[in-house]
Amino acid sequence: MNLRAPLAVEVDALARLFGRGPVAVLTGAGISTESGIPDYRGPETRRRARNPIQYREFVKSPLARRRYWARSMLGFPRIRRARPNLGHDALVRLEQAGLLTGLVTQNVDGLHTEAGSGDLVELHGALREAVCLACGATTPRDALQVALEAQNPDLVASTFELAPDGDADLSDERIAQFQPVDCTCGGPLKPNVVFFGENVPRPRVEHAMAMVERGASLLVVGSSLAVYSGLRFVHAAHKRGVPVAILTIGETRGDAHAMLRVEAAAGETLTRLASLLLGDAAASTHSDTTGQG
Ligand SMILES: [Zn+2]
Repeated sequence: MNLRAPLAVEVDALARLFGRGPVAVLTGAGISTESGIPDYRGPETRRRARNPIQYREFVKSPLARRRYWARSMLGFPRIRRARPNLGHDALVRLEQAGLLTGLVTQNVDGLHTEAGSGDLVELHGALREAVCLACGATTPRDALQVALEAQNPDLVASTFELAPDGDADLSDERIAQFQPVDCTCGGPLKPNVVFFGENVPRPRVEHAMAMVERGASLLVVGSSLAVYSGLRFVHAAHKRGVPVAILTIGETRGDAHAMLRVEAAAGETLTRLASLLLGDAAASTHSDTTGQG
């Protein structure tokens, strides 16, 4: 993957967006790859991506749920160990300086929350909790993980391969042996994330849309905008005549509406952007200097 450093001219161009007023930010999987979380839609893994689980199948098929939770039990520790990177941290600094209207993320890894972003909409939910499909009660994923591993010691001890999306590749036999953990009411558990074929709850969309509508511009970081739940914010900004900048590796479905495209490492680019805007405010209005000294 091309993780080149940004050019000074690119950082300057991004900084000029902030000169128009507070910026709305939308992030996707690309911001978390530098934390070691694979981006299954990224250029490197696109060809290997498998069919994602569908909401309807998960709800109606005990076998689909068993397959999900078996693979997820083995893949979760890697996600849980991931820590926010420079990009997450830079967005916190920009927010704390009052330069953002808010942050909308398509990621379910919880890293923006962990980094300390306050005004945040996790559009697709978060893996940190599970929800019961029968009674609606939520369970922290860390507690569920302990219960899952206690029920399935042989599977935990087995060897397996991690797929590009971070879940484990498992044979049908191993999945058949897996013992799921249910809610205390006996109902089946689902990770509290939005699956394919499932709608983002309307109040959540409206909250995110309000952040984008308050923005003098929209900055997309690390998303190919492959799904409409993210792309709609680019369409909304474009419709209002608000500039859209996209910082991500590879083509996106929003490119036609972008006035600025930067294909560079998100962590380093956002860090330099924050330094330019916060560390040396005088330099940001004179783009031919980098404000040394
Ligand atoms: Zn329940």
